[in-house]
This record gives sequence, structure tokens and C-alpha cells, in this order.
Amino acid sequence: MKRLLLSLLCLLLCSKAWCWGFFGHERINELAIFLLPPELIAFFKPNKDYLVAHATDPDKRRYAVAPEGARHYLDLDRYGTYRYDSLPRTWSAAVAKFGEDSLNKHGIVPWWVDIMKRRLTAAFEKKNAALILKLSAEIGHYIADAHVPLHASSNHNGQLTNQKGIHGFWESRLPELWANTSYDFFIDKAQYLNDPLGFIWKRIEESGLAADTVLKYEKELQLLYPEQQRYAFEERNGKTIKQYSTGYSLAYHTKLNGMVERRMRASIFAVASFWYTAWVDAGQPNLKGLNRAEWTVEDQKELEELEKAWKKGTIFGKDCEEF
Ligand SMILES: [Zn+2]
Repeated sequence: MKRLLLSLLCLLLCSKAWCWGFFGHERINELAIFLLPPELIAFFKPNKDYLVAHATDPDKRRYAVAPEGARHYLDLDRYGTYRYDSLPRTWSAAVAKFGEDSLNKHGIVPWWVDIMKRRLTAAFEKKNAALILKLSAEIGHYIADAHVPLHASSNHNGQLTNQKGIHGFWESRLPELWANTSYDFFIDKAQYLNDPLGFIWKRIEESGLAADTVLKYEKELQLLYPEQQRYAFEERNGKTIKQYSTGYSLAYHTKLNGMVERRMRASIFAVASFWYTAWVDAGQPNLKGLNRAEWTVEDQKELEELEKAWKKGTIFGKDCEEF
């Protein structure tokens, strides 16, 4: 009975799903700015608030647009074991082998990152400040998602192994507890990517490989911690939410031995490198004096629609946070 009541409470009060968590995506976009060369920092830094505030727009779009769901993940375990060679790396070859419907069903994140990179390059070529910022904020989101192990697994929220909630545990709860106090964010400067699609493929392959460990370690801890020790209820913004307890989180954090920190650092480096590569490929346009243009009426309208759809709350694709 108590368990039923707790579940009902959670259903009523658990917050909306954010991949990498609201906090993680914001920090990744913010910290990526400081890995850029000076010409780009001069443009990106004054627009930091925008890049942070819009780091989660793609997750909001998952409540508004059906095809959006597939852009955030890729179920690599559907394609064998590491390095998942049965799945062709180019979109055209993958479509020829599996068909577009099947690919969309099991996720398309590396290809979507590639599309976004081309769009961002075109925005730099046009020196369209509003578009550069919009696409930079959003590509940062997709790149970061590709670094999350459970974004590369069909068991994305532990739903197949009695581990529901593990998705948000790994990507939201742990970084929220320790990123600001114990993660090392001294990271190498952005690098030019000769093969952006190949680069993001490597990262998602690593995620696929790590997914087993993410699931296995939490399963092992379940044996040591009875359910009432695993969860706690916390007040947040005037609401009560079900949460993994600090003690259980610490045990998982310790067992993972820095994995979340490594993936977050790799995300930040990758985001900065994609931004930098798009700018170089556009011919290194001079961004001096380029101010954020007024948003077009269409941009404003899209943002309003996203907010509305997100608040209504029906998600397309996978829900990451539910227990
Ligand atoms: Zn996402």
C-alpha cells in the first residue's frame, strides 16, 4: 500500500523528462564556449545566456514534433555487439539495408548531428547571428546526448531489467550532485574535426559499449541496498519529488569511478570542436560586430509553440526520467 501511494505521488509530482538533465545540458553548452579560439569566444561569450537557456530546446521539441524523438538516441544493441558493424555508417547505406522506418524507430542521433553540423556551417557562411546561436545551442544538445551510454541502448531506462529510473540517475542525479563540486572541467581546447560524422560515430560506439556497465553496476548495488534506502523524497520548487537517495547516489558514483565526469568532459570537448569545425568549414568568417539579430517572427512563434507543447506534456520518443 505504501509503495502504491509513493508511486502515485511520483506520477503526480515527477518533473518532465530532460536528457542529460536540464543542468547537464546547460553546463555542457556553457563550458564549451571557453574551449574556443578567441575569435569565436568574442562572439559566443556575450551570448552565453542564450546558449545555456536553449540547450534543452530539442527536448522540448520532443513534445511538439513526432520525428524529433529519434534524433536523441540510437539503440546500438539492436545491431549486434561493439563496434556494431552490421549498421552502415552512412545514412544512404543504412537506409538501403534497413529502411527509413526501421532506422527512425531505433534512433538516428549520429546522422542528425551531421545534418546539424552542415546547417551550422551554412549559418556561419551567411553570418546569420540568430541562426548560428540557435543551431549551436541545439547541436550541443544532440552531441551531448550521443555521449550518454543509455542513449545507445534499447534498455534505455532499465525498463527491461527492473531498473526504471536509471536513465535520470546516471545523467541527471549524479552530475547535479557532484559536477559543480568535484568534476574537473579543465579540458583541451577545441580541435578541428576532419571527419565529424566519423567522430560522433566513435562517441556513440563508446556509449553503446559503456551501457552494459551502467546497468550492471546499479543492478549489483540493488542487492546491497533495500528499496527504502535507495530512494528519498525531496522538496524542489515547492514540489515533493521522488529521488535516488544521496547515500545510494554516492555508492553508484563511487562504483562508476568517474564515468559520468569523463563523458561530460568528452561532451564539452566535442561540442566546442563541432562549433569550431563548422566555423572553419565556413571559411572562418569574421564575426566581429555581428550582433544577435532580432529573432524572426517564425523563430518567436516556434519557441512559443515549443513551450506550449512541452507544458501540455505528451512526449514523442523515449521518456528518460520516469521511475
Ligand atoms: Zn535529448
